[in-house]
Amino acid sequence: MKKTILIICDGLGDRPVKELGRKTPLEFARTPNLDKLAQMGISGAMNTVDIGVRPGSDTAHLALLGYDPDVYYTGRGPFECAGVGMEMLPGDISFRANMGTVDDELNVIDRRAGRIDDTEEIIKALNHTKIDGVEFILKKAVGHRVGFIMRGKGLSSKIRDCDPHKEGVKVHLPEPLDESTEAKFTCQVLEKFLKMSFDVLKKLPMNIEREKQGKLPANYFLVRGAGITPQLKSFKDKYGLNAVCLAGGGLYKGIAKLIGMDTPEVIGATGKPDSDLTTKITKLIELYDKYDFFFVHFKGADTLGEDGDYEGKVKFIEKIDSAIEPLLKIEDALIVITADHSTPCNLKAHSADDVPVTMFASDIRDDDVEHFNEKECAKGRLGHIKGENLMPIVIDLMGLAELFGA
Ligand code: ZN
Repeated sequence: MKKTILIICDGLGDRPVKELGRKTPLEFARTPNLDKLAQMGISGAMNTVDIGVRPGSDTAHLALLGYDPDVYYTGRGPFECAGVGMEMLPGDISFRANMGTVDDELNVIDRRAGRIDDTEEIIKALNHTKIDGVEFILKKAVGHRVGFIMRGKGLSSKIRDCDPHKEGVKVHLPEPLDESTEAKFTCQVLEKFLKMSFDVLKKLPMNIEREKQGKLPANYFLVRGAGITPQLKSFKDKYGLNAVCLAGGGLYKGIAKLIGMDTPEVIGATGKPDSDLTTKITKLIELYDKYDFFFVHFKGADTLGEDGDYEGKVKFIEKIDSAIEPLLKIEDALIVITADHSTPCNLKAHSADDVPVTMFASDIRDDDVEHFNEKECAKGRLGHIKGENLMPIVIDLMGLAELFGA
């Protein structure tokens, strides 16, 4: 059996940039190694979720790994909480949360409480609070972020974001998104917790000290992305493959954890454009005998696209190209390189544009594609596929597909 290395370059796809001579950052970048894979392999264009759909990173990754997001996506919270290592039970409602600063009328002053980093005291003061039989479980995440779980009977994830996503306006009070008693109950309990925690945090010595120093107090949980723990079949049960995820970003490790992939720490992997990409490849080679399937995630191109930084995106793509060079020496693997969605620099947001995909193995039928980019790959043998087609093709190329018929 061949091993598979699936490399997902987040937000890689783009649109023509005037300053780059109407080329996309991927067309403009110098990428000898990616081009070599495209020359020796088969390429195509892919819409990860569906044609005309602007995918989130979460829904796109689920689709690429073979989990239909229409069935399994309940909200981003569970993936973020799994990413910071929180254990989740069936029925738990998980959120993404920021520690923010609000005034006494609950107007948002700063959505990140002055980019606070030391939230341990806040967590200690409120973790495991119980209200009406519902336990609130909190865990520190990166910077101002906090993993936030509600555990108890009769809860629902059908509630509106309390984070208004901007400053200078009032926080949203929890509001049900459907008529169910569960959604109503969840909102009532959450509102009690948010009110109680605001009172506690105002008086917390750490916040009094911050205010003395002229810093913003971290006095409110801005929660969003409520989701109920999805019941996902493990990757091992689904495909019979031992899989490992090499990523820096919490969301990607969270998705991997929820489907039972191992997620070892990779030194220097930050999930940001400054991430050391070579350490992921070094780790992969170190673990090569131990696993059948390697999911490698590079985040930076997406962040740079959202900043509109096309020059930075070109440089990051070139960094990916040099980082993956050692993989070209592996003889018995299927290497798949693609993206979860496009993040055009002129849009500074995800778009529904398709993404390039290339697959290479020593015995693969090739095509006439010479360069790994949006325009060239679309001319390849794979044609136009959807994210849901990716794993079946991979499984076949690994030699594991079952015969349909006799
Ligand atoms: Zn993404």
